[in-house]
Amino acid sequence: MDKSDVAPRIISRHEHCVSRKNMTEDVIKVLYRLKNTGNIAYLCGGGVRDLLQGIGPKDFDVVTDARPSAIKNIFRNSRLVGRRFRIVHVFFKGGRIVEVSTFRKKAEYCQHDAEEPIKSDNTFGTPAEDAFRRDFTVNALYYDIRNFAIIDYVCGMEDLRQKIIRAIGDPDVRFQEDPIRILRGIRLAALMDFTIEENALQAMTRQRELIFKCAAPRILEEIFRTLRRPNSDRAFKLLAETQTLDIILPDLVDFVGKAEHGFDGPLPRLLRAMDNRRQVNERTYGDHILLAALFYLPVTRFLKSLPSGCDPETTVNEYLSPIGAALNIPKLALQQARHLIMAQDFFETGAGMNPKRRFRLFKRPYMADAVEFFRIQSEAGGLSQEEVEVILAQYDQPGAKDKTAACQPPHEIPRGPNQGIKNSPTGEASGNGKNRKRRRRHRPPKPVMKSGATKPEAVNHP
Ligand code: ATP
Ligand code: MG
Repeated sequence: MDKSDVAPRIISRHEHCVSRKNMTEDVIKVLYRLKNTGNIAYLCGGGVRDLLQGIGPKDFDVVTDARPSAIKNIFRNSRLVGRRFRIVHVFFKGGRIVEVSTFRKKAEYCQHDAEEPIKSDNTFGTPAEDAFRRDFTVNALYYDIRNFAIIDYVCGMEDLRQKIIRAIGDPDVRFQEDPIRILRGIRLAALMDFTIEENALQAMTRQRELIFKCAAPRILEEIFRTLRRPNSDRAFKLLAETQTLDIILPDLVDFVGKAEHGFDGPLPRLLRAMDNRRQVNERTYGDHILLAALFYLPVTRFLKSLPSGCDPETTVNEYLSPIGAALNIPKLALQQARHLIMAQDFFETGAGMNPKRRFRLFKRPYMADAVEFFRIQSEAGGLSQEEVEVILAQYDQPGAKDKTAACQPPHEIPRGPNQGIKNSPTGEASGNGKNRKRRRRHRPPKPVMKSGATKPEAVNHP
């Protein structure tokens, strides 16, 4: 079917709820500047979808009939980006960016034509072609700045109304073209609490192994996007149901509950607690906190399975490094996540520490995030906020009397990763609830130096 001149359904302003009031000043400026220079200017993608759903959009994407070089000339504060398809980033104060692309026929990551040279005459398309190259019907709606109408080529409005995630075209073909769409569809369904249309759901399970072919940074970005927005617990249940989790994060499969059996796994509980705290406190979490939430449970279980005496730091590194390498996780973020995970042990074993030392450790720079993560994992474990604050109050006082034993967390709390393992991450001996007396260290005798020698002589032990 020739898609270039399919007639769209037009939904006029009074029939929908998308308002300029809910858009940023930046995107409105971009839309009007394009319009005033004689171009078509549509808001598209997640911005339109989320506004129609009453969700605050993460970002706004703009699409136009102007070619990339013309867009670049219209906006002084802009830059051409993208290797296969050139798009334009328009910069605003505070590092804010509006992404502007030109209507085109093909999506960026189609696997069939990855090697095909891109010529400008076979790249660009009509608005209809641009709509059909998109992944899901709810992602292919346009908002026209000329008359504030919604333009719908793919029955996306009806799917939004019925809360359905439907692939545009044959789902098997669309997922083969770009398997990352499987993760996008699951993320969207979870975010908006939509049902994935049956054919698309089955195709997701059938085609899931193709995700191996996607570049690791794209997979990682999808995982982060899932974790940054609400309902990530639902997304992980869907990833497990479609067996996609086996492909991207096999270590987590055992921790995801089966919703249909009424069983709620510890991972969804942890993610829900993270989401809850984030919304209540209106804050965002850095990637290291997201990673800590993801790997806390498998790391804890792994550490508990080891014989006592293993060095936890080395073992955790050995556990996380291959996962980090496979997903191309930035080393710093993974290292920070490891700190947060291992510091959880401190809140269990700290009871046995010298209070002054405990206070000093508590004031280490990464402890602020470790405390936040402790709050998250304690909430997931069933502790009330008051109980958590009572525990934390013990740590926040230099030389405070040791009252921690009176408010030990209940058993439901995920226990510290170093349970029963010597040498906690904080450098303290693993606590057993008692204050240990410090043994005095005796300095070894200084080695005898030969006159003129710069190094101590090697001592030959019998
Ligand atoms: P978010 O709210 O996370 O930004 P989004 O749907 O806007 O979600 P973007 O990555 O910003 O996601 O993409 C913008 C639009 O580009 C999408 O709504 C969709 O129409 C299209 N798109 C993005 N990725 C793909 C893809 N892999 N295949 C087809 N179309 C895509
Ligand atoms: Mg977007």
